[in-house]
Amino acid sequence: MNILVTEKSVQPRDGVNRGTPPRPLVRIVIVGHVDHGKSTLIGRLLHETGSLPAGKVESLKLSSDRRGMPFEWSFLLDALQTERDQGITLDTSQIRFRTAARDIVLIDAPGHAEFLRNMITGAAQADAALLLIDAVEGVRDQTRRHGYLLHLLGVRQVAVVVNKMDRVGFDQSRFHEIEAEIVNHLATFGLAPTAVIPISARHGDGVAKVTPPIGWHTGPTVLAVLDRFAPARPSTDFPLRMPVQAVYKFDDRRIIAGRVETGRIAVGDSITVMPRGRPARVQSIEAWPVPDESLVPREALAGQSVGITLDDEVFVERGELICAVEAPAKSARRLRARVFWLHDQPLAVGAPVTLRVGTAEARGTIALIDNAVDPGKLSVIESATIAQNHVGEIEIALTQPIAADLYALNTRTGRIVLERDGRIAGGGLVLATDNGSAQHMHDLPSLAARLSRELAPLSPRERIAQFRRRVEGRIVLTTSFGLEDQVLTHELFETTADVEIATLDTGRLFPETYRLWGETERRYGCRIRAMVPQTDRLEALVAEQGINGFYHSREARVSCCHVRKVEPLNRALAGAQGWITGLRADQSNNRSNIALVSVDAERNLLKLSPLADWTRDAVLAYAAAHDVPVNPLHAKGFASIGCAPCTRAIAPGEPERAGRWWWEQEDKKECGLHAAPDGALNQRGRG
Ligand code: SF4
Repeated sequence: MNILVTEKSVQPRDGVNRGTPPRPLVRIVIVGHVDHGKSTLIGRLLHETGSLPAGKVESLKLSSDRRGMPFEWSFLLDALQTERDQGITLDTSQIRFRTAARDIVLIDAPGHAEFLRNMITGAAQADAALLLIDAVEGVRDQTRRHGYLLHLLGVRQVAVVVNKMDRVGFDQSRFHEIEAEIVNHLATFGLAPTAVIPISARHGDGVAKVTPPIGWHTGPTVLAVLDRFAPARPSTDFPLRMPVQAVYKFDDRRIIAGRVETGRIAVGDSITVMPRGRPARVQSIEAWPVPDESLVPREALAGQSVGITLDDEVFVERGELICAVEAPAKSARRLRARVFWLHDQPLAVGAPVTLRVGTAEARGTIALIDNAVDPGKLSVIESATIAQNHVGEIEIALTQPIAADLYALNTRTGRIVLERDGRIAGGGLVLATDNGSAQHMHDLPSLAARLSRELAPLSPRERIAQFRRRVEGRIVLTTSFGLEDQVLTHELFETTADVEIATLDTGRLFPETYRLWGETERRYGCRIRAMVPQTDRLEALVAEQGINGFYHSREARVSCCHVRKVEPLNRALAGAQGWITGLRADQSNNRSNIALVSVDAERNLLKLSPLADWTRDAVLAYAAAHDVPVNPLHAKGFASIGCAPCTRAIAPGEPERAGRWWWEQEDKKECGLHAAPDGALNQRGRG
């Protein structure tokens, strides 16, 4: 099938048009038995909407007359397919035209296998569907199969078109018979058609208007129903997803090229690169050539292919996914998907497959098969395999993590393709992901409880090593260069575990802390990643409250901590599956219930506190015994290391946390975010 594009009728896929208000764009798949008149309906729709070149129909009618053949609307598509001039652009499977209210992309589904292939590989995407039935033949197997597949593919807007009504004498009872059968069928999987429309595509009845032969029809015409379908949410409304196509070295820059699938990306944005979850900021959006500096783009939207550079030397490669830092894709080591199997060899448990999501590729093994269904018979098959052209749910264990979204959340990055022997063998929709840590992501609490029990008898070093083994994906140790953090850094390098270290450089740290930072990096030959506040937010904060504004009110402290600590911490942990902290249970009453492993529900990760059950004296003794470099502030009475203005030395007998936000209530000291409700600053001890 071909695509008809008249230049002025088309706007970007996401419906974004910067000049004039955007017209809605709706993608509609047309399905049904191969002989039920799709080409005729498409030809008629193009004619009724004035989408055809002037004189096209007349010339085809003349040509048919000359050959002694009756004119068929389906000739139109054949003719257009061969003509690549006259302002018409042809493609392979989609037809574009406009109604009074919107732009329409009509996606043809020429046959069962092609339809499946196109839908599952993303070659075609549909917001709605027209399901075509021949009034003479009625509901056929392929009709039922297509209806069921629309349901499986999540297409919820379906209009049924009963064609060839002229061949049954526009018989109302025949129409209602077919209507009842298809409505009942669709209802078995929860689909209620938007409309059931009697038409004769050949004669035009019911397509653009209700003609006298179908005067008994009280519902909409086909064109009216096209205008009723709700358009999809614009791609720009979704979080940023940009699959990396390639990385080019250019001058001294690494330019990351890809297509923005959803969302938007702008210079200065914080992003994270999944599945490894490496955070960075967008330094530039590249354009070639650039005749004028003012024309250099600052932003790119869904649908645009761009090259970007990042502010950090984050290693990025093809297949990774640039994501919005606040809403990254999942890092999946195992995923569950509803798949459509196209290969002639059935898919079985244990089968090796190659999985593709966007530009990413990973090898995997089928770990489980559930709910195999024959779409034609609509019966669940008791089978450990999925046969050709059947549907089923599978779990795939991957040899390496891959970035993916649930299909329900993002259709672009929630779609998989399966390959066998180098060719497409199936594909489907991501239903759930798992980080591979032996249980599903949504079962983190039980995993945390089990790990806590498992790690309890171990030393901190063994706890880190075991945590590393049990948690797939990125793990981050956050340090403020206090005693516990230094011991954990030492332990980490004794285990050589693959764990990142990050610190929140609030810009208000003690000079002693900055010096210890350098010393620690030299001692362990490592890089401790600095997470600094975002410049624009910091400037706005200082402009609003002054450089030391945090002293003045609770709100000011909340804002200061948010800009200098919370946002950078979120960035440091974006996409991580594990977080290691130096918390101990006896540091304060607030921490008395700290578990070895707990769940950070907000960030959907596991948090390990390897020293949770240690006392401060035990940690001090350990640091001394192992020559761990410690912060000289401890010797000056600082039990806890934080921002210089908000930290003081404690007197003998005071609890450890007494030196942090010392003007706050005892139970509110954990963070500036939890400042005293009255916001009052107790001046005692300041300075
Ligand atoms: Fe600001 Fe104090 Fe919080 Fe540091 S600890 S971010 S200086 S309020």
